Amino acid sequence: MAIEDRIPRTIWWEDDKVRMIDQSRLPLVGDVLECEGYEGVCLAIRSMAVRGAPALGVAAALAVAAWVNNQSAEYDSHELFFAGLEDVVQEVKETRPTAVNLAWGAERMRRLAYANEARSLDEIRELLVDLKARVITKLIVGQFEYPVAELAAGQPPAEVRNLVRKEGAGIVRNPVRPYLTGEELDAIPFVSRFLASQVDLRRYKTPSELFPYMDILTGRGCCYGHCTYCLWVHTYVCGTSYSVRSIGNVIEELRYIERELPQVRSVMLQDDTFPDARAREFSEAKLAAGIRLPWSCYARGNMSYEVMALMKRAGCLNLHVGYESADPEVLQRIKKGVTVERMTQFTDDAKRAGLRIHGDFAVGFPGETPESFEKTIAWAKRLDPYTAQFQLMIPFPGTPYYNMMKEEGWLNERGEPDMPQFPNEQIRAMAKRAYRRFYLTPRYLWKCLCHPYDRVLVRLKTMARAVPAMFWRRW
Ligand code: SF4
Repeated sequence: MAIEDRIPRTIWWEDDKVRMIDQSRLPLVGDVLECEGYEGVCLAIRSMAVRGAPALGVAAALAVAAWVNNQSAEYDSHELFFAGLEDVVQEVKETRPTAVNLAWGAERMRRLAYANEARSLDEIRELLVDLKARVITKLIVGQFEYPVAELAAGQPPAEVRNLVRKEGAGIVRNPVRPYLTGEELDAIPFVSRFLASQVDLRRYKTPSELFPYMDILTGRGCCYGHCTYCLWVHTYVCGTSYSVRSIGNVIEELRYIERELPQVRSVMLQDDTFPDARAREFSEAKLAAGIRLPWSCYARGNMSYEVMALMKRAGCLNLHVGYESADPEVLQRIKKGVTVERMTQFTDDAKRAGLRIHGDFAVGFPGETPESFEKTIAWAKRLDPYTAQFQLMIPFPGTPYYNMMKEEGWLNERGEPDMPQFPNEQIRAMAKRAYRRFYLTPRYLWKCLCHPYDRVLVRLKTMARAVPAMFWRRW
């Protein structure tokens, strides 16, 4: 499959408008945001609808292009045009002043205009709007750290593996390197060091973590690697590869966080899933090192009680668990690899061990019916995790789930699940109802009364968004 088909588009130019996946609504909803003029793009940048360095660079350049494209007649001289351009470039940069790539994208457009200052205004406009091959001339596929470092060190692009680059009128794909080994992961500087210097941690909250928190990764890939809907194992580190940092290196990073970043109150291990053996090794090493920092991780619903009890002793707070569906046929079709009974037992064990669970349930799987999703809602209520989400499935190109939905004709024109037995509108309505049935119960309200700080006060912002979403706002 071609690279272009495997990577979903993040931001693009279509019919003279900038469109983007609204990242502020992911993973719940994969809506496309259509931006009105450059002001619309600036608004999208400010509201975090577009994130990530490469997308921000493109957004900035497209914002300038949108300004040029919609220009009113008043900019009829070079003097007025360049004065207007300066203002717009400045305004775009100020939408997120710390984003280096954003400034780079806007500056690139500015420089392109000045480099062609001697041409007519129409020619300059045409140059700036014809962006298709001008903004991005290189991209890196897969694991990016070493290719970026090699480019920055001045290595010729032809020798940098994982690089896709423009050459003349064509696109050249360099060979792809093997996945990073544990030693290579250990050699990458701590991400916490970077986040601490570049990111204002007080701006990022997540309900499952103590605030402020820090994300780190102890390994890359997933040792299970079969779920048909999983974006990561089908487009990034594919299959069952799980390369891990040495435990000593991870412990050293936790020590660094404890010592240098005392404001950080918990750490989320972002490994795609934290398997038993790794969780045991990590917990034992953390206990032995006397590190008290609380932490959380992603887990499959088949961890053993013994390991979870050890994790609790090592300061684990929360497990993020993908339950997906209560329908055994659906679980089989998506190659979940764990049964409803095993996940139910796991949940009891996790609670016995004293761990909180954030349960991930989803709707829109191939062949799913309203009746089977009803079962999922009832199961979620019986399991009673600490928090739960009911996600609308997003079929990402490159995944077997997407291929199956496409072949069966079960995707609507927006690429969302839409099946004869379970139309898209009904999927959306039932996901909303799932939230109401899970959260608006006497049992949950009682928990809120018993723990007003944890359940209500730290979640006021989330609740302000959740209430309209549960009732009247369309997702
Ligand atoms: S267990 Fe999680 S990370 Fe691994 S394949 Fe399944 S969804 Fe992906």
